[in-house]
Amino acid sequence: MRKGEKERELTPEELERQALRREEDRQRAISDWIPKTEGGRLVKAGQIVSLDDFFSRGFSIMEPQIVDALVPNIKEKLVHFTKTARITRQGRSFSFRASVLVGDGSSYIGLGIGSDRERLPAIEKATRQAKKAMKKVKRGCGSWECRCKEPHSVPFEVEGNSSSIRVRLLPAPKGTGLVVGNHIKEVLMFAGVKDVWSKTKGRTSTTLDFVSAAVHALAMTNKVRLSLEMQKKLEVRAG
Ligand SMILES: [Zn+2]
Repeated sequence: MRKGEKERELTPEELERQALRREEDRQRAISDWIPKTEGGRLVKAGQIVSLDDFFSRGFSIMEPQIVDALVPNIKEKLVHFTKTARITRQGRSFSFRASVLVGDGSSYIGLGIGSDRERLPAIEKATRQAKKAMKKVKRGCGSWECRCKEPHSVPFEVEGNSSSIRVRLLPAPKGTGLVVGNHIKEVLMFAGVKDVWSKTKGRTSTTLDFVSAAVHALAMTNKVRLSLEMQKKLEVRAG
């Protein structure tokens, strides 16, 4: 892209063609795939049809194709990209470091980092890592002002960190929107969270730390153990 030239928006036809090409790539990746793990074999055989099902059987994602097969409409975004130089005996050598965010738009997100001497392979490695790192996000409505029971926010307050950055996400009522820094808006959108308030602590300028802390915070929605009181309530409801 030349300087001063604005990035052109794609026409609906171009977008459609792009989506079609992506779907073809996905289908090819799945059909070429020879699973190496038990979980992978079950996915390829069509005996597991969702990530929820996959994780509930105790499997972990060892092969990125598991995600290709189970999450057809995955979103991918390059969130950070750097070129680093190293002095070696042969002189200067460059390598690229890419960070990619993936999400299913409803309850799974993953962040991956990949390095390579070439641009594209670095992004591809990061994407594979992100798929393997996909984590469940438990959405909910933890807002006492709202109490709608729909999964539009986080179920309770969560906090995540990355190096010196701390990101706290607080449940917000419907219609609030994402009251967060620009860096982490996409993270929440990728996980299907629509309304949230946030607090950020720490000083740093890297986008990656913000993204990583936000991913960590979202993963905490699934980590926090229910209090005894809550468990009793749930048992009552189940019984
Ligand atoms: Zn609500």
